[in-house]
Amino acid sequence: MFDESRYRASAGRSAHEQSRTSAQSPGVPQVFVIGANASTLGLVTSLKDDPITAQLVPVAVTPMGAVLGDNRQKVGVARAGFFDWADRTFPADDERAFIGSLRDLELLLRVGWDSSFPEVFDERSVLNADDVPDELLDAIGRPQAALVQCAVCRRLCVRDDFPWKERPLCAWDFHAQVFGKRGPWREGGYEARHFETLPACAYVVPALLDELDVAVLLALGNVSPAGAHALVRTLLESEEVRSHMAVRTATGIVVLCEG
Ligand SMILES: [Zn+2]
Repeated sequence: MFDESRYRASAGRSAHEQSRTSAQSPGVPQVFVIGANASTLGLVTSLKDDPITAQLVPVAVTPMGAVLGDNRQKVGVARAGFFDWADRTFPADDERAFIGSLRDLELLLRVGWDSSFPEVFDERSVLNADDVPDELLDAIGRPQAALVQCAVCRRLCVRDDFPWKERPLCAWDFHAQVFGKRGPWREGGYEARHFETLPACAYVVPALLDELDVAVLLALGNVSPAGAHALVRTLLESEEVRSHMAVRTATGIVVLCEG
């Protein structure tokens, strides 16, 4: 997920230069990103105490990019073992892990750097934004969200984005289960009452449908149930699709058909 070559290519961008400058003004809340792996972002806001309080933020990997959880877990790490801990938590041989500059960390340790967690946590509050891979910086720039574990793969996902049969799923498993061969496909027309019990999710990802041999037949914005019913009925009468499925998303209704 966090590809180092990408951040090298973008290092030294002017926006990040600015954030580095503002970082040096005293009293501005700042975080230093220690590292990240596929499910956790590690940061510190102070390096003056022993033990050091590191903060771990859960990370959900979605088809729209990584999303940070809205909660932070604090862990105390002895000063003497701090680098070992960082190395173990974000190992260099894990291609999905990223670790910040240990030299910068050492300098900050030496001067007893001390800041506080910002009220609004975004990329402007990242002291070492220059070093952080773009994907991770993008995740930091997105609003944080409540995360839960997917009921199938146990990875983290954004809560309520992809519920199915009252269980939280991640986007990947929702697509595979609901839009797969055994999903609630329908043949024949839609009655008005069918629109009251449509499968519902935050968004449909066309790239994930390709693998399932499923296509988007129609994507509607926020139309009334009566309007959606009329449009879907007209479409299905004229298109002669065999199996189809209407899905409610955050922005409207999507009608899918089996390829
Ligand atoms: Zn899953």
